[in-house]
Amino acid sequence: MVGDVLLPRGDSVADHTGDPQHAQDTWVDEAMARLSTEQKAALLYGADPWQVRSPGSLHLHDLVMTDGPNGARGVTFHTGVSRCFPCETALAATWDPDLVREVAAAIGAEARSKGAAVLLAPAVNLHRNPLAGRNFECFSEDPELSAQMAAAYIAGVQSHGVACCVKHLVCNDQESARHTASSEIGDPALRELYLAPFEAAAKAGAWSIMAAYNKLNGEYVTEHPWLLTTVLRDEWAWDGVVVSDWYATQSTAKALTAGLDLEMPGPSQLRGDKLLKALETGELSGEDIDRSARRVLRLLHRTQHRPMTAPPADPAALIREAGARGIVLLKNDGVLPLAVAPGALIAVIGSGADAGQPQGGGSCQVNPPHVSGPLSAIKARLAPDATVEFARGWADQTRPRPLTAQDIKIEYRRRGAPDSEVLATEYAVSLSMSWFNSVLPGYEPGDLAVRVTACIIPAENGVHQLTLAAIGRGVLTVDGQVLLDQQSAGGRDVIFDLGRITQRADIALEAGRPAELVIDYEPWPESGLLRLQAGLIPPAPDPAAAVRLAAAADVAIVVAEHPLGVETEGVDRPHLGFDPAQNDLISQVCAANARTVVVVNTGSPAAMPWADQAAAIAQLWYPGQELGESLADVLTGAVNPSGKLPVTFPARAEDAPSWPHYPGTEDEVRYGEGLAMGYRGHTVPPAFPFGFGLSYASFRLGEASAVATTDGYLVTVPVTNISDRDGREVVQLYARLADDRPFLELKAFASVHVPAGQTVPAVLAVPASRLRTWSDTGWRYLPGPVEARIGTSSADLPIAVLLGA
Ligand code: BGC
Repeated sequence: MVGDVLLPRGDSVADHTGDPQHAQDTWVDEAMARLSTEQKAALLYGADPWQVRSPGSLHLHDLVMTDGPNGARGVTFHTGVSRCFPCETALAATWDPDLVREVAAAIGAEARSKGAAVLLAPAVNLHRNPLAGRNFECFSEDPELSAQMAAAYIAGVQSHGVACCVKHLVCNDQESARHTASSEIGDPALRELYLAPFEAAAKAGAWSIMAAYNKLNGEYVTEHPWLLTTVLRDEWAWDGVVVSDWYATQSTAKALTAGLDLEMPGPSQLRGDKLLKALETGELSGEDIDRSARRVLRLLHRTQHRPMTAPPADPAALIREAGARGIVLLKNDGVLPLAVAPGALIAVIGSGADAGQPQGGGSCQVNPPHVSGPLSAIKARLAPDATVEFARGWADQTRPRPLTAQDIKIEYRRRGAPDSEVLATEYAVSLSMSWFNSVLPGYEPGDLAVRVTACIIPAENGVHQLTLAAIGRGVLTVDGQVLLDQQSAGGRDVIFDLGRITQRADIALEAGRPAELVIDYEPWPESGLLRLQAGLIPPAPDPAAAVRLAAAADVAIVVAEHPLGVETEGVDRPHLGFDPAQNDLISQVCAANARTVVVVNTGSPAAMPWADQAAAIAQLWYPGQELGESLADVLTGAVNPSGKLPVTFPARAEDAPSWPHYPGTEDEVRYGEGLAMGYRGHTVPPAFPFGFGLSYASFRLGEASAVATTDGYLVTVPVTNISDRDGREVVQLYARLADDRPFLELKAFASVHVPAGQTVPAVLAVPASRLRTWSDTGWRYLPGPVEARIGTSSADLPIAVLLGA
């Protein structure tokens, strides 16, 4: 202490006892002693949508939070830019925890540059069903892969003193009925599958965890004493903070006593004065407040760093590398890597071929400083030796891309005030705007009028569709002519599914001729998340022109994508397929050119009816802002692909083991497939199995040998690269844990770089703690010998090894 100021000390700094934990406990004790009951209670809820105020007398910074996981947006939506990193599924497809740690450290630095102390990430829900809208935000269908990825992500982010808030505890594995349904699940599947990544995250030292919206076996997660106290605290001895998902808190006393430390967002709905009243009536005790206040103070102590003043070093090269390392080569008849003769013609086709989708939709979205598209990156690599030509061929006519323009002006006025009385002005680069609770500080949303002005310059001639979605009322004019007048109420998850309220109007535009667009927006008066979005759908492209281009080309590259907003928070996908017209185009292009490469720009599995026709298929995921560069690295062979699927790609949605129980009803989601989820329960051969991915090199695995260590086994497998190209292979070990289980389960893996012609040992650590099953009496650790199989995909495990023989 200096004078009467209580100085926080870094987490790793010890006091006179030499023990950093003791120093932290002492600091928390001293801070608690200085706070009144009111001040302690105020630590237990957000003061605004993104922060908890720290008591003035402690002289600490406030606890600012930002969404993740594929970047750190900060506390604003449409102003400011943030780097866009690969989505979690793309990260997991690298099967490389060291690379994930490095990427996460860059995301942690980005969060600090926004003044944030807590990053709301990683998401460790499992891909239980391929249609779930947020799969792309989560690592994998497998708990072991998710657990190792989560631990690496947490180590990276927290190395910058930024807390991870691991989400969404637990069994929040779909968007349908996420606010109401109870996930009904038995203990073995809950413990061995869905809780396992959270347990790993808690043991990896995550500083906070987010409690989900849904119920678990009949009780809201945010009010679940067994989950939040018995499991998290008593069993896992975890000392972090439990944060509610946004508006997931259901009660005052019940939630706090169950173990929900922090209600978010603010202003508080169920805490604030209500906490003090519950204290007066005896529903809560001083100890209930103190317990959670101590945890929040510990979090403040752990994250006590001043915001960085300089922006973090540019992670573009790392984003590009991670994006490329996540790409999974699903098929290759030899067309890749591209060998382009001088003068060759390369056809680049598809609605996503010029822009590409770097990220999925929902709260994780950021405004990237730039996005490298496939077309420009491929051109930069292959021209001038080759000619690269583009034809769109197909474009979604249902969901518009938000309009972008330079210097979109946003002016705020009181409703009814003259044009000259502007209260505030902002600038944005996209006509997709969101405001959380406050549209303009100090004013009620219902008292405000917002005018957005932009100049759009169309790229094409012809009849375009202009679209508008406004939560509240929006009137859109172009060059003074009113085209759309749209009004809609707010409501849960409508913010993520604007397709439901979007209106459209036709307008003839001329390429290159500027048009002035004005939107007068009256926000919906109730606070919450408000949105305004305007988009443009250009004239429908001609598929025949794209097929003609493909027929004339030496190689055709087609980018397949879902319309914007199909893979997003708030809604699940309606089916596994692509748009039928897009499938037709891809089929026709494959028929016209036998050397067609299909690039799949989605965040989770899609059905590919043209798979047999394509010469090569590359799963790109949502790889972040360097999308085109990452893709071009793999297509040209600058990077030898080594990604492996972190999720099964079923041939049909009906083949997923969870299918008969998905999506359940508004009230109940039954996890009826139990442990047999994902690859564990697939009875029909999938289109592409879990763990699968090709390389431009060829590898041979040698005999495996296992030795016992103090805490398990080390398994060594020699990996020989029998090709003339350096490459990387992921060696995977699956174990059979019980006689009554007809399936093998991933227990260890290692990603090894093997130069051409050489042999490198892959060393896989299998801690004994992973060889366990959940029984009626708790964890049962297998004494051994345990039968394990090793290979390079869940469907190719040629090598047998006994652990503990
Ligand atoms: C999402 C969380 C997110 C939070 C804040 C919720 O709707 O489920 O993942 O962190 O909003 O944006």
